[in-house]
Amino acid sequence: MQLLDGKAMAQTIKEEIKIEVDKRIASGEKRPHLAAILVGTDGASETYVGHKVKSCDQVGFESTLLRFPDSTSEEEVLNAVQELNNDASVDGFIVQLPLPKHINAEAVINAIAPEKDVDGFHPVNIGKLTLGQETFVSATPKGIITLLDRANVKTEGMHCVVVGRSNIVGRPMSILMSASSNQGNATVTLCHSRTKNLKEICLQADILIVALGRAEFITGDMVKEGVTVIDVGITRVADPSKKRGYALKGDVHFDSVSPKCEFITPVPGGVGPMTVVSLMQNTLRAAEEK
Ligand code: NDP
Repeated sequence: MQLLDGKAMAQTIKEEIKIEVDKRIASGEKRPHLAAILVGTDGASETYVGHKVKSCDQVGFESTLLRFPDSTSEEEVLNAVQELNNDASVDGFIVQLPLPKHINAEAVINAIAPEKDVDGFHPVNIGKLTLGQETFVSATPKGIITLLDRANVKTEGMHCVVVGRSNIVGRPMSILMSASSNQGNATVTLCHSRTKNLKEICLQADILIVALGRAEFITGDMVKEGVTVIDVGITRVADPSKKRGYALKGDVHFDSVSPKCEFITPVPGGVGPMTVVSLMQNTLRAAEEK
């Protein structure tokens, strides 16, 4: 079993990005600038945005965090999006999800200018991704593709099972893995909560990508020998022995699954850091294309 160390790989990519940024600055171009809108005080969202801001510092980007209280109206968020669309100093921006229930996330995402949508959630960018055109690939699927590619995990002709069909992870992941590309060319099965015989399908996977948000759901009896497992899930599980009162758990029961794997991602330290660094790559690209 070999661990796919997303933390170490993300660090390498950050150093590569920093070199590109330094080159830009040396040739008189401006620093890439990522902005983020955060509505409310959800603990996990605060953590994720904090990682993104810190990564901007590490790669030499400028960053702006726009914080709004839970009570912010949809119109106020849409106004903030418009301002960022029109702000020439901002190369790309994200709206941290989930938004409070009274705000229609779809309306907010649709309002983002596609050329600044570095999360790759806008319908135009999802459409391009589906058609195999150059675009901002959403950060988590992009990070997973990069991880598999740099670790030389063969995807061509493999049976890839994706568990979870969300618009931000599972669905784009299934499209990328089935795409006619060097990092794709897999035969893909996309599973969800209405899938029958999930265990039997998972047992057929050469590559199993799990994004369902249920701690330790995939167990050793659900995977075959030699499988590559990508665990996207991050769930906070109460743990009084930890200082912060909780432990982070993936969707995969690591102890029973990992002995059967050729490759597996840990949680934390697998997909999470690759997601953040992919956002940095998208932002650099947005700056370069301007
Ligand atoms: P969503 O809740 O949007 O989607 C979950 C998906 O899992 C749905 O498609 C759902 O099916 C499916 N599902 C739920 N229960 C089952 C089940 N028993 N059997 C089969 N399928 C099931 O989650 P996200 O995709 O946004 O996130 C998934 C996990 O990944 C979460 O833990 C999240 O925190 C984590 N995450 C991690 C990131 C990272 O950077 N590491 C980034 C983004 C997310 P249905 O559609 O039928 O309801």
